[in-house]
Amino acid sequence: MSLENPSTYYTITRKYDLHYPDLEDDIEADVVIIGGGLTGINTALELAERGVNDVVVLEGNYLGFGGSGRNGGHVMAGIGHDLEKIEKDVGPDGLEAILNISDVGASIIKKRIQKYNIDADFQHGYGYLGFNKRQAKTLQSWQRTFSSLNPDQEIVYLEGNDVQNIVGSERYTCALKHMGNGQVHVLNLLLGYAKAFTDLYGGRIYENTPALEVEYGEKIVVRTAKGSVKANKILWACGAFLDKLEPELHKTTINVYAFNSVSKPLPNHLIEQISAIRGAFSDITPIIDYYRVTNENRLMYGTCGMLLEYVPNDLKSFLHGKMLRLFPYLKDIKIDLAWGGPMECTLNFFPQIGTLTEHKNVFFAQGYSGFGVTPSHVIAGVIADGMSNGSKAWDAMSSIPRKQVYGKDNFRHLVCSLGKITQQIDAYRVGRR
Ligand SMILES: Cc1cc2nc3c(=O)[nH]c(=O)nc-3n(C[C@H](O)[C@H](O)[C@H](O)COP(=O)(O)OP(=O)(O)OC[C@H]3O[C@@H](n4cnc5c(N)ncnc54)[C@H](O)[C@@H]3O)c2cc1C
Repeated sequence: MSLENPSTYYTITRKYDLHYPDLEDDIEADVVIIGGGLTGINTALELAERGVNDVVVLEGNYLGFGGSGRNGGHVMAGIGHDLEKIEKDVGPDGLEAILNISDVGASIIKKRIQKYNIDADFQHGYGYLGFNKRQAKTLQSWQRTFSSLNPDQEIVYLEGNDVQNIVGSERYTCALKHMGNGQVHVLNLLLGYAKAFTDLYGGRIYENTPALEVEYGEKIVVRTAKGSVKANKILWACGAFLDKLEPELHKTTINVYAFNSVSKPLPNHLIEQISAIRGAFSDITPIIDYYRVTNENRLMYGTCGMLLEYVPNDLKSFLHGKMLRLFPYLKDIKIDLAWGGPMECTLNFFPQIGTLTEHKNVFFAQGYSGFGVTPSHVIAGVIADGMSNGSKAWDAMSSIPRKQVYGKDNFRHLVCSLGKITQQIDAYRVGRR
């Protein structure tokens, strides 16, 4: 099993046979975007929807090669993990601006699926899960926040036997059922967006075209193996795959691995037992279990591993074992596929967006810290604001200081393991454990 270029549930069930050429010319554009994941393609589409049509996306491999084609497909509320961590950086007005956009990601996905007629298996129904009193309190406070942001949605706090009505696992004693959130086939979603961007708005995408060298200035020049793009603005949207091409961005994130699997298709009675609402679920601990029932009756189960950072040798059996803690009645069920990949994390677990210190036409968005599906939709809008007249959300989010992660290149396993342990301890304080 390779984590370098994995076969995933998404690659075997993709519905769009969509491929773009590699760049073989010297071309010009208003905006060049490096990276064809959810951040890059969402921003390209967002700009196109706002009338900025001269946008080029360069993808080093194929669309969805990174986290965007490997993740759990969970459509969740929020932007960063804990708003509390950035409260002092952005002040009350900034916090309000961020809070106001923090639960709009799911509605952007739903609107675009409808607008562009995208075949991406969107399914409503999410459960945030807990197993003790501290977590119960946290879920109750989330219920108040999300309900005030989305008064028309069914967002209900559950405890005791009611939890079993949405998820068939005895591990949980409390839950927040959010029917505005849910799940999606992320690769089909991404490809549907790409198709809309190129076919309806005349956008240009090049695959198998890594950016090899970038020269900043009033006009930015991105050089590739066989061509170049000259543009007024650039967006770095390379997720965990940025590497050292842009040192100022490289030093403020660290890669942590997460893993995913799908079972063989399950009979209806087991699906009913796992989740009568066919929902998507995650517990609220830092090292989460997350899973969902897919369109073909498979259980997709994932986790970001263990306290110690390592890649298990036998990923299928590792994930099967973890899954059985939650659903012991699935012991005879086989795992069809397992895969994984790196997620770039920041020290405050909040995404980083802004422009480079010395170059105000060099934009970036990175550091979703394992939670990028819905946030990338919201952040694409904030980046598009930043590229035009700005907004309160842009001011707030781009003002959050970015801290260097020391030791990331030479001691990644150690730094990640220490980080996970610290985060686990901190989770008691904030009611996530
Ligand atoms: C196993 C796993 C499970 C996850 N589960 C969830 C989940 O359930 N819910 C959730 O919200 N988030 C989840 N995430 C996180 C989420 O997938 C990411 O935050 C999100 O996809 C990031 O999108 P992105 O576009 O920023 O980066 P990516 O999707 O990684 O895209 C970056 C792209 O940039 C390209 N690139 C890099 N360098 C260059 C270059 N020099 N030139 C050209 N192209 C380049 C790469 O090839 C890649 O395609 C998960 C991540 C993983 C790995």
